[in-house]
Amino acid sequence: MNLMVFGAPGAGKGTQAKFLIEKYDIPQISTGDILRAAIADKTDMGMEAKNFMDAGKLVPDSTIIGIIKDRLAQDDCKKGFILDGFPRTLGQAEALSELMSNMNISLDKVISLNVPDELIVGRITGRRVCSSCGASFHVDFNPSKKEDICDYCESELIIRKDDNAETVKSRLGAYHDQTAPLIDFYTKMGVMVELDGTKDVSEVTADMFTALSK
Ligand code: ADP
Ligand code: AMP
Repeated sequence: MNLMVFGAPGAGKGTQAKFLIEKYDIPQISTGDILRAAIADKTDMGMEAKNFMDAGKLVPDSTIIGIIKDRLAQDDCKKGFILDGFPRTLGQAEALSELMSNMNISLDKVISLNVPDELIVGRITGRRVCSSCGASFHVDFNPSKKEDICDYCESELIIRKDDNAETVKSRLGAYHDQTAPLIDFYTKMGVMVELDGTKDVSEVTADMFTALSK
């Protein structure tokens, strides 16, 4: 299975990707997680990306496409993968198509989680993420079993630097201007599945697995 979870920041992509990993035993490729790891490691790429991320802007395509090219070439992607937060621009989507075509593979489904902007701010400001495995929780809508401790790996939950009301505005702006046009791109490709992402986490998961079984 070569899958993509798609949607606005805070739509629930990372949350649903965790269930896809469990079911299909394929890796999640989150460009956001890869960039945050590069920042933590203080690499040149991380330091360059940090300013864009802190401002809620997209990191340049050349950097992101380089990351994906290296990641998809790794052995664990041979049995499939879940793209999360990539692509975010038409240029990235076109580069992905070319890359996959060169690898003789294709996308099976794009799962789009539709959530209106009014709900996004509350989701992002209440988000808590695992400092180790990146799992995503919410103080009200999807709390961890133990406060501030990850259900999956027991590491500490933290608030992401870019998860504040200020940055959400520019992130939503970038989503509508640069990323939302990809809905059309993947609909035309015949792989798009649009789901109501406002339902409870477990209902969205059930809808997603129903769509994937068709
Ligand atoms: P994304 O990866 O798309 O940025 P996340 O999966 O991190 O989004 O989800 C954003 C926030 O919303 C998290 O705090 C998460 O726990 C919460 N969340 C995810 N799905 C739902 C849902 N269906 N209903 C309510 N809250 C949700
Ligand atoms: P995310 O973890 O997906 O919410 O991404 C956090 C931030 O990383 C975004 O606001 C962007 O600054 C950057 N980023 C992640 N993925 C991409 C991408 N595919 N293209 C451009 N910027 C990205």
